[in-house]
Amino acid sequence: MQPSDKALVPFVSVDNMMRLVHHIGVEQMITQIAQQIDSDFKRWESFDKTPRIPAHSPHGVIELMPTSDGEAYGFKYVNGHPKNTSEGLQTVTAFGLLADVYTGYPTLLTEMTMLTALRTAATSALVGSYLAPKNASTMAMIGNGAQSEFQCLAFKAMCGIDTVRLYDTDRNATAKCAANLQERGLTVVACQTPEDAIEGAQIITTCTADKKNATILTDNMVGPGVHINAIGGDCPGKTELHRDILLRSEIFVEYPEQTRIEGEIQALEADHPVTEIWRVMTGQAKGRTDDRQITLFDSVGFAIEDFSALRYIKNAIGGTDFYEPLDMLADPDDPRDLYGMLMRAQ
Ligand code: NAD
Repeated sequence: MQPSDKALVPFVSVDNMMRLVHHIGVEQMITQIAQQIDSDFKRWESFDKTPRIPAHSPHGVIELMPTSDGEAYGFKYVNGHPKNTSEGLQTVTAFGLLADVYTGYPTLLTEMTMLTALRTAATSALVGSYLAPKNASTMAMIGNGAQSEFQCLAFKAMCGIDTVRLYDTDRNATAKCAANLQERGLTVVACQTPEDAIEGAQIITTCTADKKNATILTDNMVGPGVHINAIGGDCPGKTELHRDILLRSEIFVEYPEQTRIEGEIQALEADHPVTEIWRVMTGQAKGRTDDRQITLFDSVGFAIEDFSALRYIKNAIGGTDFYEPLDMLADPDDPRDLYGMLMRAQ
């Protein structure tokens, strides 16, 4: 028996996601996802919002990230296990689902490991386009793991970066990142120390993975006027910046209720002033106000970014063969005859 067409859910596998990215182009796709995030953040108040729901263990964290705009509902399942790379596994893996609020039926199931890297890069560069100093040309990229190339290409495509200065405690990671960025229109400089990496950089991205309060940047390393895109600190007890940097910075966040638990600002008092980035996007709050200001995007990753990415994918696969119809929903012709459907299948 064939499942009814209305109950088949489009499924985007890793393979099909990679085909789709190649079809659209990496930088183009990041830019388009950023446009979707920008328009969704500009209607921030129409979303249900909650800090993500974590399950912590000594090994890492598994999180659920739900949101809804009243018409569509989305969630992402994502993990963060910094020890994984030493076992040949990814630090971050994810999948996500979109559903129709009216029927509650799923409308998309997709891999989101690749998509998370794209949406995180899209969010970083989108926020950078609001906060980074004008005419920024050089970015320091500290932490050269799975997210790093996506970050570099996003800032190139959306903020006009032409040079990236790479640093990682693991030289193999830097070599991998440098090799992957060849012939992508960027000048790539592999650096031996974090101090060397930030030399002349107007934007500093920290994207390291370690389950501790690390000090990737100390206060004396950060000069006036830079924009810091801090994305690796995203869990209680997992941060990247010395507290003194926070005290000198104008801090921008996604959703304060989540960031105060997970972000760099967990090191500050609970009432330390921060600006929600959606308010800058809608013009209700100021972004960078002068050339000497240090702006800090304390990014942890928020559910609306995944919702935007899910909706982008749902639109992008329409009329293509970049998905498979998945029989994941029992949907008998007579809605109350679930048992009969089971018996007829014998
Ligand atoms: P990854 O494990 O692939 O890469 C992390 C890299 O950081 C590794 O190459 C490691 O050698 C390096 N590193 C560790 N400590 C360092 C240090 N002190 N100085 C320099 N480099 C150091 O992880 P990934 O998938 O690239 O993710 C990086 C971080 O970003 C993770 O902590 C992850 O949780 C976080 N993340 C945040 C968001 C967000 O939306 N904010 C999204 C995705 C991932």
